[in-house]
Amino acid sequence: MKKIILIAIFVLAFMGCDVVNMPTQEELDLKSALLYLNSDVPNFSVKVDYGEPKWEDYLGFYESSTKEITLYMSELRTEDNLMFAAIHEFAHHVDVTNNGIPAEPHHPGFGKIMDGLLMDAKEKGIYKGDRTANGGVMELKA
Ligand SMILES: [Zn+2]
Repeated sequence: MKKIILIAIFVLAFMGCDVVNMPTQEELDLKSALLYLNSDVPNFSVKVDYGEPKWEDYLGFYESSTKEITLYMSELRTEDNLMFAAIHEFAHHVDVTNNGIPAEPHHPGFGKIMDGLLMDAKEKGIYKGDRTANGGVMELKA
């Protein structure tokens, strides 16, 4: 009987770990939106973090070794900010995938990749803001 209880505890503990690591619906939705912009990329994950950012003032972070995008909700607050940051981090994923790890993460080519994704997202109704990669205002095509 004791053995069965112990096994049950281990099984529950493992199941608990799985639940913790399962992406939330919000994370799955964000990933789907990003894949709608560019599906020709290696698999990646999106994590929405409600705690304090890893570094002060960080809105998001892309870890190239694990291909994980983290978004810090305490800093983002609005849906437009969230999507802008998600696209920014996704642009890093696209950049690293196509060009390798750059010496400077925010090089001019990165801005072009991000602006292309932002424009596409605007046209597809995913991103409703009008900021560009460098903080300018998007010029919409007539
Ligand atoms: Zn960045």
